[in-house]
Amino acid sequence: MTTETLTNWARNITYTAKKLHRPHSLDALRALVAGSERVRVLGSGHSFNEIAEPGAGGVLLSLAALPPVIEVDTAARTVRVGGGVRYAELARAVHAHGLALHNMASLPHISVAGSVATGTHGSGDGNGPLAAAVREVELVTADGTTLTSARGDDRFGGAVTSLGALGVVTALTLDLEPGFQVSQHVFGQLPLDRLDFAAMSASAYSVSLFSRWRHSGFDQVWVKRRTDQAPLDFPWAAPATEAMHPVPGMPAVNCTEQFGVPGPWHERLPHFRAEFTPSNGDELQSEYLLPRAHAMAALRELDRIREVVAPVLQVCEVRTVAADEQWLSPAYGRDTVALHFTWVADTAAVLPVVGRVEEVLAPFEARPHWGKVFTVPAGTLRGLYPRLGDFGKLADAVDPMGKFRNAFVRDVLGV
Ligand SMILES: Cc1cc2nc3c(=O)[nH]c(=O)nc-3n(C[C@H](O)[C@H](O)[C@H](O)COP(=O)(O)OP(=O)(O)OC[C@H]3O[C@@H](n4cnc5c(N)ncnc54)[C@H](O)[C@@H]3O)c2cc1C
Repeated sequence: MTTETLTNWARNITYTAKKLHRPHSLDALRALVAGSERVRVLGSGHSFNEIAEPGAGGVLLSLAALPPVIEVDTAARTVRVGGGVRYAELARAVHAHGLALHNMASLPHISVAGSVATGTHGSGDGNGPLAAAVREVELVTADGTTLTSARGDDRFGGAVTSLGALGVVTALTLDLEPGFQVSQHVFGQLPLDRLDFAAMSASAYSVSLFSRWRHSGFDQVWVKRRTDQAPLDFPWAAPATEAMHPVPGMPAVNCTEQFGVPGPWHERLPHFRAEFTPSNGDELQSEYLLPRAHAMAALRELDRIREVVAPVLQVCEVRTVAADEQWLSPAYGRDTVALHFTWVADTAAVLPVVGRVEEVLAPFEARPHWGKVFTVPAGTLRGLYPRLGDFGKLADAVDPMGKFRNAFVRDVLGV
């Protein structure tokens, strides 16, 4: 057997598996799953923790070698997409049919199945996480057979944002909408004491605030306006005079077009262009999602500890996400503000600061992003998800032997 050193994109995690299985057909995938004791899927590897780790002796598999499936149904306005497909490829195909996804994450290089499994989101008061577009999920379960769950059935609330714990997602069907154009505007300095968070986040389709917490406030505000919606009225900060990268000093050429030039949704909603790699992986990320009503109080708490945060921070991004119905979604049941941190690539220096951030955000019932670095104890996590028990029952029913349950999932479920 040829062995590989398998890491995530950021290289802060080395998987114990020595081989990445890449089945070329669905039948081969079914046989591999049915014949293995422990299985986890690796999507595009953009998570920053051990969520994909299969455990000693477990099988790690990738769907990247399966024939890519992107089937757009223009009449139904849906797309059926294979489990290995990334958002960049999906977006291009959907756009070619004059249709659109409701939102995208900052990076289009991530896999669709891996993103919805962790509750990945973009920004916008009215925009649910990416999983909100999913209407049906097809899973190869422990015995190698397919289970389908569609919006409206009893299992669906646990079936999409499932942390990979139910089976291998081989296809997802997503809702589409008519294509739309977006203009992106970047604004400069905004002191915290001048921030009217609710008004600002409501001012456009998608708003992101960026700070390095070297001072009390934000260095940049990225505003993405749908051109079929009201003209932009943004009185809080001055427009940037040159193209910007969210991390000052990094090349703006990697970023999507700015200065209000209208363009298709998939070339403006992500911050980064599909054809560029925004960084070489020299970073760690954490993110906490809390009820939106607490946004200002939480930002003041961060400001209070900014001298602790700033030395290990590349950039902090603040976004909004609409409430979601997936039981394990960090936006489950509550309109959300998401506080994201891109840290330097130094785990030892970053972890104590992560702990400090978690301490100040704990009173706001902050739920950590499942795919990023966090130290919130599993017991605390369980208290943050009112439907966790239902998810545990679903996992027991679908995967009674726990074939897809790694240490990360067992911790979350408390089993
Ligand atoms: C540069 C960068 C930018 C990012 N931007 C954002 C952002 O804007 N918003 C945001 O919310 N997050 C963001 N993230 C986080 C990222 O979206 C999540 O970590 C997401 O899970 C990555 O998808 P992936 O396919 O790489 O997942 P992986 O890390 O490969 O896997 C994540 C989980 O999904 C499971 N999984 C993957 N594919 C399947 C499948 N086919 N079947 C079953 N289980 C599967 C894995 O087992 C694992 O449990 C960013 C990450 C990076 C590195």
